[in-house]
Amino acid sequence: MPSRTNAKIEQLEAKILDVLRHRVGKDERAAKTHDWFTAAVLSLRDEIIDKWMESTRRTYDAGGKRVYYLSLEFLIGRLLRDAISNLGLGREMEQALRTYGLELSALEDLEPDAALGNGGLGRLAACFMESLASLDIPAYGYGIRYVNGMFRQRIDDGWQVELPETWLAHGNPWEFERRESCYRIGYGGEVIAKGDGVEWHPAEAVEATAVDTPVVGWRGKRVNTLRLWTASALDPIKLDAFNAGDHIGALAEQMRADSLVRVLYPADSSAAGQELRLRQEYFFTSASIQDIIRRHVQYHGDVRTLPDKAAIQLNDTHPAVAVAEIMRLLVDHYALEFDEALDITRRTVGYTNHTLLPEALESWPLPLFERLLPRHMQIIYAINSRVLREARKIGMDDGEIAAISLIDEGGDRRVRMANLAFAGAHSVNGVAGLHTDLMKTTVFSSLHKLYPGKINNKTNGVTPRRWLQQCNPALTSTLRDAIGDAFLDDAEQLSALNALAGDAALGERIAEVKRSNKVALAAHLKDLTGVRLNPDALFDVQVKRIHEYKRQLLNLVETVALYDQIRSHPERDWVPRVKIFGGKAASSYHNAKLIIKLANDIARRVNSDPSVGGLLKVVFVPNYNVSLAERIIPAADLSEQISTAGMEASGTGNMKFALNGALTIGTLDGANVEIKDRVGDENIIIFGLTADEVAEKRANGYNPREVIEGSYELHQAVEAISSGVFSPDDKNRYKGLMDGLYESDWFLLAADFDSYAAAQREVDRRWNDQKGWRKSAMHNIANVGWFSSDRTIAEYAKDIWKV
Ligand SMILES: *Cc1c(COP(=O)(O)O)cnc(C)c1O
Repeated sequence: MPSRTNAKIEQLEAKILDVLRHRVGKDERAAKTHDWFTAAVLSLRDEIIDKWMESTRRTYDAGGKRVYYLSLEFLIGRLLRDAISNLGLGREMEQALRTYGLELSALEDLEPDAALGNGGLGRLAACFMESLASLDIPAYGYGIRYVNGMFRQRIDDGWQVELPETWLAHGNPWEFERRESCYRIGYGGEVIAKGDGVEWHPAEAVEATAVDTPVVGWRGKRVNTLRLWTASALDPIKLDAFNAGDHIGALAEQMRADSLVRVLYPADSSAAGQELRLRQEYFFTSASIQDIIRRHVQYHGDVRTLPDKAAIQLNDTHPAVAVAEIMRLLVDHYALEFDEALDITRRTVGYTNHTLLPEALESWPLPLFERLLPRHMQIIYAINSRVLREARKIGMDDGEIAAISLIDEGGDRRVRMANLAFAGAHSVNGVAGLHTDLMKTTVFSSLHKLYPGKINNKTNGVTPRRWLQQCNPALTSTLRDAIGDAFLDDAEQLSALNALAGDAALGERIAEVKRSNKVALAAHLKDLTGVRLNPDALFDVQVKRIHEYKRQLLNLVETVALYDQIRSHPERDWVPRVKIFGGKAASSYHNAKLIIKLANDIARRVNSDPSVGGLLKVVFVPNYNVSLAERIIPAADLSEQISTAGMEASGTGNMKFALNGALTIGTLDGANVEIKDRVGDENIIIFGLTADEVAEKRANGYNPREVIEGSYELHQAVEAISSGVFSPDDKNRYKGLMDGLYESDWFLLAADFDSYAAAQREVDRRWNDQKGWRKSAMHNIANVGWFSSDRTIAEYAKDIWKV
């Protein structure tokens, strides 16, 4: 071992012991593994802090522009392995810990997941933070430090049960509270005329305090800040009330503040419409905007130069009130003219759209919005009158004007957050090519006509550090042996593997890595669920939030059809399959929760049926989160990306699986389209209606009953589920769910079933040609480097942020 490494190991050894004694306050004989974990993190953190300060200094010296990424969600997962790996200290840390009889991997497993997000949108924000640091771009992420975050999912008798996630129970050694960075956030009250302008007098206020977490880039190039806000009352306890015996009343204000940062709304692809949610959105947005403008004025003096020094990106509409908040500060506090302020705001703000689902487009009842944020309401009206004037000027008709308006006038009046974000931003981007095209022709068609050129595409990506190097070290090392190290710094260099796809020995080595990942996953799932899996079976995986548009139900119905076929034709040469499902359902989403129960009911029946002879196993993995994803994805053979075409904006799970050598079975939806273009038609299995065909079917009437009754396999499966074959304890449990398919089938499950089932049999055929399968796996790995979030961030930086 080189002596520099040895010196580093000795230094870490001494450091960890010193930290354990003097900061954790434990003797090494009394220390529990958790104390060692804390000591390891704090030791590493000291190394990070030096780079952090240096990064900040460099930014100031360069007078550079910063990126501010505002997101209500950051699904970061664990940080220890990420930090160690990005600092290049893996081997040194392992050795240093062994001195004390500790395994690094055991300490890593002690870290709770920071689950401050629902799914893809929150995970994207986390991948972006890592890529921003890796590309040496000065950036802050802004969000909320939820005390409970995403709920923990337990499966009780097959049903989802939601429990609070207590990720902060042992403290959080990564974070720094910044008492000096605190801002007052007002709600309610009234707007009063003052001089030439107005003044907002809120009726209530809370204080937002910054809590910072360092984000280390690849090879430790830069350390950026994830700044999450926590809330406290201005007056945490009313002593006179307390002394008078009103203990609850005396603490009420603090409790109200706590409720702002207590939970992440567990809604995915549907808007969470409660008042507390709007309060949360304004809370973190106002604190972030105040922080950004304070920093700008402190270092650059003139608020008018904000667009030259700050690029604010809104991750979906949750922070869209930022548009009105920037305007309020510029107009009311810095006394700028409205039009100049609007120009500055627009040049500063970019907006990323994540969904076209109407139920997920945020809008707030106007009376609620006006009561909580009266000044912002006035500003929104003023922006709206300018926008509508421009629309009339180019001769737009009443229908188009109604579509463009920031206020929805149909029925109850509502504030449309997407229209506000669109009007207040210079850039509006979709997250995959198809999604961006659909933005232009559907929800935003009129706004696109008024502001052509604003809509642009930035296809999502994932960080290859976490989603290849860290989660799949064996594959990484096999690839390094085969094609060298260039891909570690530039994922697109994985393409060198294309030339080696005919190398059978290499294909075999990669297949061995896959098998050992499957053995490890099988052991983990045995612990979690009790089900024993055969690592030589095809691991067929659908893990993601449970939603009808993602069509876990299509997969389950096909599973039932396959089960039926295996039992009817035991003589055939079936490919042994393991169907793995995982994902959380929004707590209020009845059908999604029923689908989880169905997966578990099918699993119980199939797994205990000796007549399928181990050819089919079904597992539902409880509590799908980032850490589970890191175990499951490297062990997958087949990646299920089967949403109704036109409904998944991009998907990022699809990218992670392909990067780890799984083949995709999927529809032409979201980024699947681009994955297909890159890996090649022969290395992916595409089925089903296209987005255009889906739109056409919905528009021209579609008779699902006819389709179901016309497909023998589908009909058998639907009837079996409907009649209680899988729910003998409650025969009608799935009757309503199946009736829904007969009656409306909005997600076109029936329309796509035959094509999906045929695609699955095509998967079997390809699997039976193991040589061909391995080759396809290699072409997948080789050609999805483009889906690195480094590429995505580089595009944002060049086209939107100009940094
Ligand atoms: C990547 C990821 C997602 C997004 O998955 P999709 O298949 O794109 O919906 C959701 N949850 C976790 C934990 C992830 O890592």
